[in-house]
Amino acid sequence: MPARFIFITGGVVSSLGKGLASASLGALLQARGYKVRLRKLDPYLNVDPGTMNPTQHGEVFVTDDGAETDLDLGHYGRFTGVSARRSDSVSSGQIYSTLLTKERRGDYLGGTVQVIPHVTDLIKEFVLKDTDGEDFVLCEIGGTVGDIEGQPFLEAIRQLGWELGKQRVMYVHLTLVPYIAAAKELKTKPTQHSVKELRMIGIQPDILLCRADREIPLSERRKIALFCNIREEAVIQALDVASIYEVPKRYSEQGFDAQVLKMFGLEAKGKPDLKKWDEILERVQNPQGEVTVALVGKYMGMGDAYKSLTEALDHAGIANRAKVHVKWVDAEGFEKENVQKALADVDAILVSGGFGERGVSGKIAAIQYARENKKPYLGICFGMQLACIEFARNALGMKEAGSTEFTPYEEKNGKGPLVGLMTEWLRGNVLETRKEGSDLGGTMRLGAYECDIAKGSLAEKIYGATKISERHRHRYEVNLGYRDAFEGKGMVFSGLSPAGNLPEIVEMKDHPWFVGVQFHPELKSRPFAPHPLFASFVKAALTKSASKKKAA
Ligand code: GLN
Repeated sequence: MPARFIFITGGVVSSLGKGLASASLGALLQARGYKVRLRKLDPYLNVDPGTMNPTQHGEVFVTDDGAETDLDLGHYGRFTGVSARRSDSVSSGQIYSTLLTKERRGDYLGGTVQVIPHVTDLIKEFVLKDTDGEDFVLCEIGGTVGDIEGQPFLEAIRQLGWELGKQRVMYVHLTLVPYIAAAKELKTKPTQHSVKELRMIGIQPDILLCRADREIPLSERRKIALFCNIREEAVIQALDVASIYEVPKRYSEQGFDAQVLKMFGLEAKGKPDLKKWDEILERVQNPQGEVTVALVGKYMGMGDAYKSLTEALDHAGIANRAKVHVKWVDAEGFEKENVQKALADVDAILVSGGFGERGVSGKIAAIQYARENKKPYLGICFGMQLACIEFARNALGMKEAGSTEFTPYEEKNGKGPLVGLMTEWLRGNVLETRKEGSDLGGTMRLGAYECDIAKGSLAEKIYGATKISERHRHRYEVNLGYRDAFEGKGMVFSGLSPAGNLPEIVEMKDHPWFVGVQFHPELKSRPFAPHPLFASFVKAALTKSASKKKAA
């Protein structure tokens, strides 16, 4: 049987958890023994989210094959363990870019190029591509029904419904059922309108997920079913939960997966096997210790901007049976003077990835504090580059050490800048090159690269391996020309690219736990397989916290 397609749309408002609903359904179908793939179709006009500020659209998730994608692909991977690929993410920008290249090449010669059928054909091609061997392909449509940019996507999935038929296509729609305090009632009208909007473009949802902050009475669910032309059992409640790891279980209790199978004429025998989810939940709900990690960054309180990072910290908490609290520390307006105040009470410090000069001095101050006060430190990407800059300036006396990303460099010692733009590097056997004026979109060192770890290093102990692969997303690199000076004073380059010219991991000798990595380990962490770096970092934080308590 070729793959079946489930399209997930959203209505009324955004931020209802469409990504998590899709990821959860994927997990539930897996738990019933099916093979799944998850995809995201984003209607915005950027070719990919790589050039977008994380405050606009959350973090940029990077795949092994080097695509910069929507953060929902992170949820999919964490919930199903299936790594997303470039072919799992598309945007209007990408579709139009392909379309216009084809038009210029003459592919449509003689014809008028139109949204229907040309744009919709490309969308359908994306949905169907690379799906051999899958039982279910879940496609989430970004945005909410009614958005102008979303129309061609809805039209394309409507067409697919006809072309592939009921046995292979179904539609799930997620809406909000708000509680109106003055009336003391849950209101179904927004849901009715949202479904009406969908039906106007020819899509009749098969299942409705109704997000609400309290139980929706049967009478109201019946009303929704009647007005929206849906079977009563297919109106599924999506109630607020304390932990995202509860979502698959709650959806299953409401019959979501059973209904999906029923719609496809598949037998839904018994219940899905959710043992591993129960174990995760048990650990999340019964922590035996707690730690506070300072996350020093620029987009404060914006959970979505650091989604994979906070998730990876949670996974590390699961691994250590501890609750990990995050203290958001704004790197801006944060200088040496208030370092002590902001960081004295935390058990560990993390400086995340980032771009540009804003917040740099605050991040460097935090790193110096972590190094000198022996607090566990994890520096990710920019956090590793800045750790090297901090060390050069304050431990090696290289006062002018910096990155050409935010300080102009003047050649003095013939070695080049400490952190500089990379113009050439190897990807496997292929040489990639960039110039100062290259396009900004999609031109960083992106995706999975191998790294060789030095024997006897902390990194080797953490990974339990000397060859690893991690995902990258950066334009600058630390200059290995300074290696001797660094290692002479205790900062060791313990991970290098296979060719030996690009530093991937640094660590500090006389420090309980100080590691900087040029890659983004958070992108590969999963609740069922917490990332070893994060697990070890949180373990070090727990040790720090225990010794603090003892001293007190
Ligand atoms: N801005 C740095 C670079 O481009 C680091 C990027 C990052 O932290 N992801 O190299």
